[in-house]
Amino acid sequence: MSRLREYAGIVGEQTIEEIETLATCLAGKTILNVNSTAVGGGVAEILNRMVPLLQELGIQASWDVIKGGEAFYAVTKKFHNALHGAKQDITPKDYHVYEETNDSNLEKLALDSDVVFIHDPQPAALVKKRQAQPNRWIWRCHIDISRPQAEAWEFLKPYVEKYDAAVVSSPAFAQKLAIPQVVIAPSIDPLSDKNRELDHSLARGIVEKLGIPLDKPLVTQVSRFDRLKDPLGVIEAFTQARRATDARLLLVGGPADDDPEGAQVYQEVLDRARNNPDIIIRALPPTSHLDINAIQRVSTIILQKSLREGFGLTVAEALWKGKPVIAGAVGGIPQQIIHQHSGILVHSVEGAAYWIKQLLNNPAYARKLGENGRERVRENFLLTRHLKEYLLAFIFCLRGAREEFVRL
Ligand code: UDP
Repeated sequence: MSRLREYAGIVGEQTIEEIETLATCLAGKTILNVNSTAVGGGVAEILNRMVPLLQELGIQASWDVIKGGEAFYAVTKKFHNALHGAKQDITPKDYHVYEETNDSNLEKLALDSDVVFIHDPQPAALVKKRQAQPNRWIWRCHIDISRPQAEAWEFLKPYVEKYDAAVVSSPAFAQKLAIPQVVIAPSIDPLSDKNRELDHSLARGIVEKLGIPLDKPLVTQVSRFDRLKDPLGVIEAFTQARRATDARLLLVGGPADDDPEGAQVYQEVLDRARNNPDIIIRALPPTSHLDINAIQRVSTIILQKSLREGFGLTVAEALWKGKPVIAGAVGGIPQQIIHQHSGILVHSVEGAAYWIKQLLNNPAYARKLGENGRERVRENFLLTRHLKEYLLAFIFCLRGAREEFVRL
């Protein structure tokens, strides 16, 4: 049985047939994805699952990662934060480093596929090369660019407008652009090691082997150690809630090749959690998919207290596992969580603390939120829907003139 067919039991036969039919329009076409990291973070997570499925459908999909030095990733992390709206001091030298690294990658990458699908700001300037190419270029933005720091956006926008189209993750992220924009939400793969069903005792065994005790309810956040994921706010919220109820906090994180701030934030988190036996911090390798799956499944509550967010795949992962999720009302999270229906949205440390207490004290309500959350993900945020929308985007982009590219 083909891998795609294995999804029929979850999303229905008709969805699979629709995908197969759409793919026939793209048979033999070449689609090159380019991003800035092969491991760590949501973009790599999705590409790892999406590219093999595209290939299985007869499309010549590939994935390249741009290479840059420490200085480049320090600059692109500043861009990332600034485009998310956080204040950053970006210097003329920073812009120069960005352009220089994109230029040196231009020499190494063959950008002649039918569709060049560039992910995020790091490699966005590769579009410089397109003058000589008759192919189509799409910029796929995974971050929330609705309120960017003006200077950073003004620098990036002229590059973005050289593309045939831009794809954003939420209607709220749309920007004023001279090119068509399309909204395609990200997704999780229900059959990956990260999300597949796991027997409860197996999950407990995996977690105990990691040295994580399961003698108390576990409140967990899985995230890169990044200030915008607010790990220190999570510790503060848990500490407040812990005064009234017994539980443990688990912060799980790992590195991403394109995130140079991780080590520093990790150290700050360790320092803040020191001497508190109810707070466990674990840094896991980025390939620990089964471990994360098990951790999410044995947790009583999942937190994602982000201050800014792209889509927030960790939220979808937890909801899919039927977990009650308490998350920041930012980025793509409100698309996933309807407050008090498919999870809880919060705006402050105090709000997070309040809801940790509420959900720990009301398991029936917490369970209902999780059940609703799972259905929300089944209907909206699984890989098959995402795949179908990408196929439609590629077809429209290859067939139509720029003006004909329609919103899906
Ligand atoms: N992740 C992981 N290990 C970690 C931290 C995160 O495997 O230590 C995964 C997480 O399960 C999710 C992705 O990395 O699949 C993070 O995606 P998200 O959209 O939540 O955030 P991003 O890191 O892209 O900002």
